Amino acid sequence: MRYLSLGDTDDISASCHHVTFGGTGLVLDAGMDPNQDGYAALPPFELLKPRPVDHIVVTHAHHDHLGALPVLAREVPHAPIHVSRPTAMLAEQLLPSSARLQKRRVREGSTDAAPVFDVETAEALGYVYDTHLLDSPFSLAGSKAEGPLSGTFYHASHVLGAVGLLVDGYENGTRRRLFYTSDTSVQPQTILPEADFPDGPVDVLLLESTLGADPDAEAFTRKAEQKRLGAALADVLERGGQALVPVFALGRSQDVLAMIDQFKRKGVIPPDTPVYTAGAMRGIAEVYDKTRQSTPRLDPDFEVYNVDQLRLPRGGKKLNEAFSRPGIFVVTSGMLFEKTPSFSVAQRMVSDERNGIFFVGYSKEGSPGERLQAAAAEEDGKMTFDDAEGPLSVRAQVERFRFSGHAHRRDLVDIVDRIQPRAVVLVHGETEAKEWMKQAIQEAHPDVTVHIPEQGQEIEL
Ligand SMILES: [Zn+2]
Repeated sequence: MRYLSLGDTDDISASCHHVTFGGTGLVLDAGMDPNQDGYAALPPFELLKPRPVDHIVVTHAHHDHLGALPVLAREVPHAPIHVSRPTAMLAEQLLPSSARLQKRRVREGSTDAAPVFDVETAEALGYVYDTHLLDSPFSLAGSKAEGPLSGTFYHASHVLGAVGLLVDGYENGTRRRLFYTSDTSVQPQTILPEADFPDGPVDVLLLESTLGADPDAEAFTRKAEQKRLGAALADVLERGGQALVPVFALGRSQDVLAMIDQFKRKGVIPPDTPVYTAGAMRGIAEVYDKTRQSTPRLDPDFEVYNVDQLRLPRGGKKLNEAFSRPGIFVVTSGMLFEKTPSFSVAQRMVSDERNGIFFVGYSKEGSPGERLQAAAAEEDGKMTFDDAEGPLSVRAQVERFRFSGHAHRRDLVDIVDRIQPRAVVLVHGETEAKEWMKQAIQEAHPDVTVHIPEQGQEIEL
């Protein structure tokens, strides 16, 4: 077996891996780097040229795993694309909207990077997805396969449709197995139950390392954080303020709405509190609801659309009305990027001490979300949203809550205990995260070989 990383190896950006398994070439995930634009955001697909590509598997619909798929499909048009059904449904919305966004950003002058695919290409992919159910093997054998080679999807929690992939087949007369966790959550979330894994042992484990450098993540439980968020929202509403919860469109926003539903039912917050939502998350909620009986759920009766929601008014009198009474705004983007609803809602709310801005996910360094949290930690901190307007005093309550869709690092090491790999390849994490994971795995399992791959460097496994 040979492994090659096409994505960045020192960061959590684009996920894209090539595996050669007994003469068959597989590409696992086709992510785009969210920190780059245009062709610079793509994995170096030219590295695929001398290698076989018989099949493509995309594990979930996050941009850093799916975003470059239309380009990869253009490069290797003969390779079938395997996804779960919910991932196909989400991709049918997300890829065309990514194409529209790429075009719009050029038009608005916010980038000079040419779009890497258009809406038609993204929409056409909807006809070619090969969808599979969980726990149901499908063939991944290429034309030079030595014998049967199968893929099996395992529920990965994380976000709707997310799967881990088990590859099982023959190489040089020997049966071998590889498991790719992709992004995984070992603990139950609010809507989705915990991830499921194959029985060990396996030969190779491709293991995500997102939270490998985050010792704090282990100290938080979802239950305690949920209670703290409920109490914080209740305080804001009681003092007549508004609360903003900036969210990512896929995953966190549906989770937050499910929590708000529970807060209302349990009387933590008044049941008639208006909740405003906007944008792509509404279409995504529909996919969550349509698949609630056919995919793993903690409560198959729960529907995201049953949580009373008002569409965030675009402006004018209706928007002023929304800001004149206690309410909750659950809007994108999660890191408060400019020109997104959460950015403009935060701008309106930030100077009033009755209000609360509650982050429920990670904000990367330098993002407006991170800058706001830093300003709030200072005495009389200020933040500039608009140069013409000048700096605004941060008087609203700004808090961060920990609701990760990723397994924390001890849980990641537990996956190794559970499926007993002979070799581990650490992927999707910063260098520091992977170093910690390598050490922790080797302490517990000195006989396991742990690899930290470099981009473009092939590893024999
Ligand atoms: Zn993800």
